Amino acid sequence: VSPYNATVIQKLLDAGAVIYGRTNMDEFAFGSSCETSCYGPTKNPRDMTRVPGGSSGGSAACVANHTAIAALGSDTGGSIRQPASFCGVVGIKPTYGRVSRYGLIAFASSLDQIGPITKDVRDSALLLRTIAGHDPKDSTSANVSVPDYLNFLDKDIKGKKIGLPIEIRNLTADGNEVMGKAVEVLKRQGAVIDDKISLPHIQYAVNVYYIVAPSEASSNLARFDGVRFGFRDKSAKTLLEMYENSRGEGFGAEAKRRIILGTYSLSSGYYDAYYLKAMKVRTKIKEDFDKAFQKVDAMIMPTAPSSAFRLGEKTQNPLEMYLSDIYTISANLAGIPAISVPASLSKDGNLPLGLQFLGKPFDEGPLYQIAHAFEQATNFHQKLGNVTP
Ligand code: GLN
Repeated sequence: VSPYNATVIQKLLDAGAVIYGRTNMDEFAFGSSCETSCYGPTKNPRDMTRVPGGSSGGSAACVANHTAIAALGSDTGGSIRQPASFCGVVGIKPTYGRVSRYGLIAFASSLDQIGPITKDVRDSALLLRTIAGHDPKDSTSANVSVPDYLNFLDKDIKGKKIGLPIEIRNLTADGNEVMGKAVEVLKRQGAVIDDKISLPHIQYAVNVYYIVAPSEASSNLARFDGVRFGFRDKSAKTLLEMYENSRGEGFGAEAKRRIILGTYSLSSGYYDAYYLKAMKVRTKIKEDFDKAFQKVDAMIMPTAPSSAFRLGEKTQNPLEMYLSDIYTISANLAGIPAISVPASLSKDGNLPLGLQFLGKPFDEGPLYQIAHAFEQATNFHQKLGNVTP
């Protein structure tokens, strides 16, 4: 039981929201399927044999099946957007620093952001308006004023320039399905699609992320030593034994994998070859976006390469699991906002597929404008139909 409220929770309470539960997630937010939770997996309410996505899978599932009107998630590499896509709901990762992380357990401090998961774009705008803003308790929170995001809704998108990166071409059948339809919808509304935009370094995004994120995670998890935080082994005879047992027994397999990967990349002798190199490529990715945003207002990409996969399908193959985030990770590396909205149904199983709009730093307003216009034109969030709790 938390001894204090996170800033986002306090802000929601102050605005009159009723907080009535905590949702399941991957342990320490490490995962793309909600299967690494010590409480067991969450199932996708649209097909109980499938994962809800992760790590904030419980949040997306409970919004999709009407257990909650809205939920919060955290997104380090896609954990709000990918579950939103899998469950047919709306999820936004705000700009890095837009929302206070005070009270959020740190995964990778240079990537983590909290954001809302909701049934539609309007609720998302309403929630983000409530939780965004500078917080002196979080030194990484940005002192940038928060516009009323509701003012960006119900506006047309005539003349809005939307970039379709040339690197996002080799798509799966589901990816092609979702992108083809979306581009048509946007064009019909008067948006100008620029399909010559290039983000040459995003091909390295997954590689960079799986150096940077585990490195920061291994450092952040050092505090879970059984002394002040988390599980403590009571049987140990010496201090060292207590540390070893607490960490050995307390962390799950995925957390241990990340600690090992991260400690390796940060260790002397490997730091330059891995962590430093990854940080340099991260800068290149950020520069690609900066350049692209000189030409376009927003960018469009699939949220995930597929619809929700089956429970257990990827648990034995971490690398394949990591590839679920191929389209979401670059927004975290670049620190930019990205919103996933329901956009189509998968070819095979009638499962939801999302697409994401990515914007300039602190441009959540214009992103809401585009996402809302798209949502109103397709009405896809309602076509998905109801699932019962
Ligand atoms: N799936 C990614 C990972 O496992 C992202 C998780 C997240 O955004 N918290 O690291």
